[in-house]
Amino acid sequence: MSTSSTTAQPQSGATSPAGTASGTAAKANPKVGLVSLGCPKALVDSERIMTRLRAEGYDLVDSYDGADLVIVNTCAFLETARDESIEAIGEAMAENGKVVVTGCLGVHEQLIREVHPGVLAVTGPHQYESVMAAVHQALPPAHDPYVDLMPPQGIKLTPRHFAYLKISEGCNNKCTFCIIPSLRGPLTSRPIADVMTEAEGLVEAGVRELLVISQDTSAYGIDTKFPRQEWRGKERRTRFIDLCEALSELNVWTRLHYVYPYPHVDEVIPLMAEGKVLPYLDIPFQHASPRVLKAMRRPAHQERTLDRIKGWRRDCPDLVLRSTFIVGFPGETEEDFEFLLDWLEEAELDRVGCFKYENVPGAQAQDLADHLDEDEKQDRWERLMEVQRDISTRRLARLVGRDLDVLIDDVPEDGTDGTVIGRCYADAPEIDGSVRITTTEQVRPGDMLRVRITGSDDYDLEGETI
Ligand code: SF4
Repeated sequence: MSTSSTTAQPQSGATSPAGTASGTAAKANPKVGLVSLGCPKALVDSERIMTRLRAEGYDLVDSYDGADLVIVNTCAFLETARDESIEAIGEAMAENGKVVVTGCLGVHEQLIREVHPGVLAVTGPHQYESVMAAVHQALPPAHDPYVDLMPPQGIKLTPRHFAYLKISEGCNNKCTFCIIPSLRGPLTSRPIADVMTEAEGLVEAGVRELLVISQDTSAYGIDTKFPRQEWRGKERRTRFIDLCEALSELNVWTRLHYVYPYPHVDEVIPLMAEGKVLPYLDIPFQHASPRVLKAMRRPAHQERTLDRIKGWRRDCPDLVLRSTFIVGFPGETEEDFEFLLDWLEEAELDRVGCFKYENVPGAQAQDLADHLDEDEKQDRWERLMEVQRDISTRRLARLVGRDLDVLIDDVPEDGTDGTVIGRCYADAPEIDGSVRITTTEQVRPGDMLRVRITGSDDYDLEGETI
């Protein structure tokens, strides 16, 4: 689970000029800034809030100065994320003074109010109605039919060519290091027709890569018992494999995140081998030692995971596996840790993120015995990253000489040195590596280029257009 933050500056909707009809408004529209912290799921919450604000005629601004009010969407996954959120609220209070707090830290209202007693309101994650109610109270909307015009795909905080697609909220698992289920409640899957209508709208608006996110993507539909709905004239179940098949009909990249290796995940591998879904699976394994996994109470952990990985790669040789791990979990012995390193050598995962264990208030793991000291955690983190760097280097070297599609993310403003940055199927935005491409073509972000891979290093690739 990623805890990367986006920015500590308010953001404005960047996708469409619709709704900026300041010249037509009888009086100035109220202006709101939004600071979005946390994981892609929080980013989707921010997008929904921004969509509502724009629909109601608020202008979105990207400076504290220009805002009449600032919303801070917080993260509370780890202590560092909580500190960053508290700091961001403080900055918004100092720079603007009218602040509404939402997001995961919102469940700790008392803590927020102790540190920042002047905040206008505090709401929890995905409480869009409460956020809007707080905004209405502090800053009533100025109704204007022109500013009610919305791009049908809503407001996106990601660049125009990729978008996160949130398929469910909450989680039914009880991992001992995590408080997400108590913050976000049990698994609540969105009906498949809703998800596909949103996905279709995003593709029509220019999105070329859909990143499927949730807390537990392969559990999609379990809570609602897989109801059937029609989409594009065909009946589909609200179920993981049906969703993957439906998304493949949109003819854009579909990238699957937060997939737990339940047995039915095997069903998606043929779709990947056929090129219908990107051959990329983000599976948050978190550890490999059965003893630690049991203490973590991880879902879907089983002894034969390595065999399954081998089977997936046999059926889909291009498959790229990404995962995250926690080192220094309470009670993790040197033996457990070495088991993990050996497992990594055998599994040869392509992309790996690693966190040092941190206590999370309210999580059961903090009451476990045998916490490790910070030096030991740091040492294990460094050892794991060293092992993984070599694995990553070996895995990327396999791609040298291949011709791959690369989606362009970034073109330098001067555009003169003929180098642009993109990603191939092996690279999720913001968390994986990239492809540095030499080209004489005029390209723009969102273009898809055919690229011959000419070199690789620890985490990134190099190539040239063909
Ligand atoms: S699967 Fe575990 S770590 Fe992920 S949200 Fe659910 S409880 Fe938390």
